[in-house]
Amino acid sequence: MSNETANNSENNSKNNNVTLVLFHNDLRVADNAALSKAAEISSNGRLLLVYASLLTNIVESQDSAYHYDTMGVARQQFLQESLIDLNASLEQLGNRLLYLQQTPAVSDTFAQLNELIKAQQVTDICVSKTDDYYQNQVYALLQNKHPQICWHIETTATLFDELPLESLPKSFTQFRKKIEADYDLLHAEKDIVIYPTPESLAPLPDNMQSRDEYFFESQLSNEIEIDKTLNQASNFTGGESNGLKHLDTYFDSDAPSTYKATRNALDEWTHSTKFSAWLANGSLSVNTVLNRLRRYERDVIANDSTYWIWFELLWREYFYWYAVTHQQKLFWFKGIGEHTPSTQFDQKPLEKWKSGKTAYPIVNACMHQLKATGYMSNRGRQLVASCFIHELGLDWRYGAAYFEQHLIDYDVASNWGNWQYLAGVGADPRGCRQFNLDKQTQQYDPNGEFIRQWQGELE
Ligand SMILES: Cc1cc2nc3c(=O)[nH]c(=O)nc-3n(C[C@H](O)[C@H](O)[C@H](O)COP(=O)(O)OP(=O)(O)OC[C@H]3O[C@@H](n4cnc5c(N)ncnc54)[C@H](O)[C@@H]3O)c2cc1C
Repeated sequence: MSNETANNSENNSKNNNVTLVLFHNDLRVADNAALSKAAEISSNGRLLLVYASLLTNIVESQDSAYHYDTMGVARQQFLQESLIDLNASLEQLGNRLLYLQQTPAVSDTFAQLNELIKAQQVTDICVSKTDDYYQNQVYALLQNKHPQICWHIETTATLFDELPLESLPKSFTQFRKKIEADYDLLHAEKDIVIYPTPESLAPLPDNMQSRDEYFFESQLSNEIEIDKTLNQASNFTGGESNGLKHLDTYFDSDAPSTYKATRNALDEWTHSTKFSAWLANGSLSVNTVLNRLRRYERDVIANDSTYWIWFELLWREYFYWYAVTHQQKLFWFKGIGEHTPSTQFDQKPLEKWKSGKTAYPIVNACMHQLKATGYMSNRGRQLVASCFIHELGLDWRYGAAYFEQHLIDYDVASNWGNWQYLAGVGADPRGCRQFNLDKQTQQYDPNGEFIRQWQGELE
């Protein structure tokens, strides 16, 4: 789809151009418009491909009371696997990943990034458009600090470049109906055009060729060791190659044809698509997923289930535009509403919920699963969030922050938007959703198998 170039500059393909790609949630080489743009404008210049961890720490936020500074082990591992895969792909294309990481010696990756930009006399920056309020604050700070740099901001995370309606409807249903009436994306005859992987990438600047301290792989020793048992427990391994492999395996199976009936299961790998983790950090592009779904509909079957995969992808799209529309309100206690909820912070029940020691076995099992694997089914998320808000009476933001810390598919809009929805301060026209946990247990775990599997104690 189309591109946006923030500064109006015509400095494409100059010999002295130094382009920097700042990866965020676009950790792939295929269908990555930001990387393709960088490849195009740096074809006669030099290229820096950077991932900077914890960049947003620089931005002052109101969420310090409930925000966790560290990632859970599973989320960190999934990210690390994604970066290893990205680095391997970039090396094949003639460059490599530079990694700015917080260490005891480097307390501020934003300062490190600024130094790199200055020292290398960067002329162009390519990034993906994002709904992440704090990441956008970082971009604004960088633009202020280096006004001479030309920014290229490309769409990589969504089906649409811009909100395809005049304004965001209050409810998902209105959004879906309008989109389906105006754009029949699921049944369009032609595939969405995918940006091919660049054939090659310009090299690093000469004076960076031996700057080991920046190279991703030389910093891996500072990172966590990949725990294979975790991969086996969760089935998820990060990275574009694994995401694409999983996409093929899923659509080569019968699972898509029964998705609607199985999607609410608590713990079966094939009962929902499991695309979320790769979609969230951009190892998979949503366009690639949609093209594969269309192919399945053309070649195998189009039914309620295949439609429902589209329906859920549209939820993801809705929350993206919800985050763009409501900005900081995504993190406000009263959300996008007028009324502050009557729930509140309370350490004891919060700790019980986090460690899976509530009075509700189904909730405990889900929380154990989350801590052990970084994943929880959609039904599980609804149940533990409902327990958090309605049974324990807690301030929903603490629950959302805990999910942020642990979910391997953490996505700012989907996470905070869904929590707001369930807390009754978001996009739910019904006000709020409370689940009857006994009934839900009978319905989704009638023989207690899920509870038995995940009943182990957490430290
Ligand atoms: C409290 C709460 C927090 C959540 N936090 C996140 C999060 O941080 N990241 C995240 O990706 N999803 C989040 N979800 C949405 C949903 O639970 C997951 O996307 C889904 O469980 C992932 O499994 P799957 O890929 O097998 O989903 P599938 O059922 O196979 O759905 C296909 C795709 O559609 C999208 N999708 C499905 N349901 C939703 C939804 N309700 N909202 C937005 N997108 C959806 C996802 O990209 C998913 O991969 C949250 C839901 C709740 C209730």
